[in-house]
Amino acid sequence: MNRLIIAISTALMLSACGSDTEEAKQKAGEMADEARQVAENVGDDVKAAAKDVGDAAQDAYDDASAAVQDAYDDASAAVEDAYDEASAAVEDAYDEASTAAGDAMDATSAAASQAMDDASAAASDAVESANAAAAAAMGAASVTAAAAMDDGDDCTLGIEVGDNIAYSTDSLSVPASCAEVTVTITHTGQLPAVAMGHNWVLVPADALNAVAQAGMTAGADAGYVPDDDRIVAATSVVGGGESDSVTFSLSALQDGVSYRFVCTFPGHSTVMQGSFTVSG
Ligand code: ZN
Repeated sequence: MNRLIIAISTALMLSACGSDTEEAKQKAGEMADEARQVAENVGDDVKAAAKDVGDAAQDAYDDASAAVQDAYDDASAAVEDAYDEASAAVEDAYDEASTAAGDAMDATSAAASQAMDDASAAASDAVESANAAAAAAMGAASVTAAAAMDDGDDCTLGIEVGDNIAYSTDSLSVPASCAEVTVTITHTGQLPAVAMGHNWVLVPADALNAVAQAGMTAGADAGYVPDDDRIVAATSVVGGGESDSVTFSLSALQDGVSYRFVCTFPGHSTVMQGSFTVSG
């Protein structure tokens, strides 16, 4: 720029001097050419500089754009990453919640199933216990019934009499296991006791005749049974359609002694008698 100004100034100054010599003109022309050359060069420099400025501006713009794009890309990537992470976190949380819910349901189902199993087992046990108790009760009842039947069969005796002078049997026997013995005499005939009465009196065999004799003396009011300590048991006198029972303990009987039963109604004792034995 300075050279341009100097060249133009020199040309103007020479021109102003007014020395119209050929040398001066030539010099001025040379100076003018130089000035033009300088001006051209300066123009080129300015163009180049302008171009540089433009390029720099373009570069700056490009750089800025790239930076903006990069920043945008970075931000987008960051947003996307954040979104992905949030989504993953949500999904994980959902999965965990689902798993927890599933576990809870499984646990509840398992607990319910276990409770049902326990209840079933308890019910089954209760049924088995009830069955066992019922079976035991039935068994006990059977034993009791059997014992009762045994008692009925073995410890309770019956003997029949009628309108004639006779017992239905001339021998009775009981097992030694009987704590007590009950004998029932039943009159199946029609005649009244005053005419054809019978009783059942248990005595030692060797006391039979004496007791029978004393019975007649004792009379009807005493049922023809005398007051005699040797008598083990005695029923009342029964007539047609009547019956009577007597219960006594086997402990009243003495070992090694024979016992007989007899009807002490007057006139019957010689025919109406039989043996009474304890077995076992
Ligand atoms: Zn008799």
